[in-house]
Amino acid sequence: MPHETNIDARVAHLNQRYANHGALDVLGRALKDDQVGRIALVSSFGAESVVLLHMISVLDVSTPVLFIDTQMLFEETVKYQQDVSSQLGLTDVRTIRARPDAVAAHDPEGLLHQTNTDACCDLRKTEPLERALGNFDAWITGRKRFQSNSRATLEFFENEGNKRIKVNPLAHWTPQDVQDYMINNRLPRHPLISKGYPSIGCAPCTSKVAPGEDPRSGRWRDQDKEECGIHFVNGKIVRGPLPKDPPMEEVKPMNTIVTDNGFAPDTGADDFVTVEELETSNAARAVDLPSDADPMVLQEVLERLETIRVDFPTFADGRGFTLARRLRLMGFTGKLRARGHVLADQYAMARRSGFDEVEISPELAERQPWDQWKVRAEWGAHDYQSRVRGTA
Ligand code: SF4
Repeated sequence: MPHETNIDARVAHLNQRYANHGALDVLGRALKDDQVGRIALVSSFGAESVVLLHMISVLDVSTPVLFIDTQMLFEETVKYQQDVSSQLGLTDVRTIRARPDAVAAHDPEGLLHQTNTDACCDLRKTEPLERALGNFDAWITGRKRFQSNSRATLEFFENEGNKRIKVNPLAHWTPQDVQDYMINNRLPRHPLISKGYPSIGCAPCTSKVAPGEDPRSGRWRDQDKEECGIHFVNGKIVRGPLPKDPPMEEVKPMNTIVTDNGFAPDTGADDFVTVEELETSNAARAVDLPSDADPMVLQEVLERLETIRVDFPTFADGRGFTLARRLRLMGFTGKLRARGHVLADQYAMARRSGFDEVEISPELAERQPWDQWKVRAEWGAHDYQSRVRGTA
C-alpha cells in the first residue's frame, strides 16, 4: 500500500517526478513506485492494446492484466487475447466477467444491448471492472492526448474519484507513435483491423468503418453513446455518454531547433524545397530530404546548397544518420538538420553522424527539455573516436 494516503498529493508528486520521462520509463517506474501501490493493466485486447501489453511483457511479465470478457466479444478477440498473452509470455492475465446471478437477473437472453446499452455496459463491463479494481491502488490505461479535446491536457497520473490512481503512459503519443511501435516491435495485429474494424468492442455494438470515417464511428453506430457508461469527471461518477468534444486544433508545426548551445525557435529563414523542385529552382539553397532518399540525387547541386534537412519520420528510423554520414563523405560542408522523431538520447549520435542541429516539435521540446539534451550536447567529450583523434 502507498505510504501517503492523499491521492491528490501523490498524483501531483508523481506527475512532477516523471514529467520528463518517456512512456516506457513512466510505466516501468509506476510498476515499482511505492506512491503508486498495487497496480494492474486493464486491457480490452483491442486494436491498439498490444502496445501496452508488449511494454508490460518487457518490464514485468507478472504484472496483473485485467481482461474484461463481456461474453459479447468477437470470437477473433477471444482468440487474439489467448495468442497475444501466450506470445508475450504474460503470466497473470485475469479474465473478468459479470456475475452469473446478475446476468440471469438482468439479461438472461443476452439481448439487453438491444434496448438499453448503458445498462448492458454497466452489467457486463463497469460493475465487473469496479469489482476487480477493488484489489488495486492504481490501474494502467491506454488513453492519449490526441484522442479528444477533453484529453488534450491528460497527465501521466490522474486521481480517479479519490479511489485510485489512473496511469496513462501513452498520454503524449500520437497515432503515428502507436503504429511505429507496433511495426518496430513486429507486434501481432488484431485480425479484425484488416477487415475494416479500426476500433473493436463487443460484437453486437461494433460495425465496420468506411474509409475516411472517424475510426470510432463503428462503435454503437447511430446511437448517442460513445463510452461504456461510467466515467469520473472532477472526482464524481458520471453515467452515460460524455459530451461531444469540440474539434481538435490543428497540429502545431515542428519548430524548435536544438543545437549544442540550447533550444531556439525556428526562424523560418531557410526556404526549403523538395528534391523535385530543386530541378526547376536555381535559386533554392535549402532542401528537404526524405529518409529513404539516395543522397546521390543531390550530387550535382551539392555545392550550391546551404542547408539539407533530413526527415526522421519515426523515432526508430535510423536511416537519417546514414544519410548524413554519406552527405558529409560526398563533401557537403553546409548545414545539416535532422527533423522529426529525434530524441534527446539520440542527439550525440546525430552530431557524430554529421548533423549540426535537430528540429523537433514543441510538444517534444516540452516533454524533453534542454536539461535532457544538455548532457548529450557534450557529445565530443564522450566520443571515443574524437578522443583518439585528439579533437574532443
Ligand atoms: S458494448 Fe454492447 S454488448 Fe458490450 S456490454 Fe456494452 S451494450 Fe453490452
